[in-house]
Amino acid sequence: MAEMKSSFSRHKKSCPFCSDKKCNIDYKDVKFLSRFITERGKMVPSRISATCAKHQRALSKAIKRARILALLPFVSND
Ligand SMILES: [Zn+2]
Repeated sequence: MAEMKSSFSRHKKSCPFCSDKKCNIDYKDVKFLSRFITERGKMVPSRISATCAKHQRALSKAIKRARILALLPFVSND
């Protein structure tokens, strides 16, 4: 994943949602959500995406909703 240049110190990855308050999780934003799923449609683990538990939960809800609306693919085979 491309690392974004930050003016802050780059010790330890922090949650992208906690660090950017403007960044809200929108289930209709497929392009955005696709950053958090693998090409097979699986969710990227929070330890990889650096998303905190709270936002990971919100993210999985958004992804589930997007799947129901057929905006995102369901996981085909695990
Ligand atoms: Zn967070």
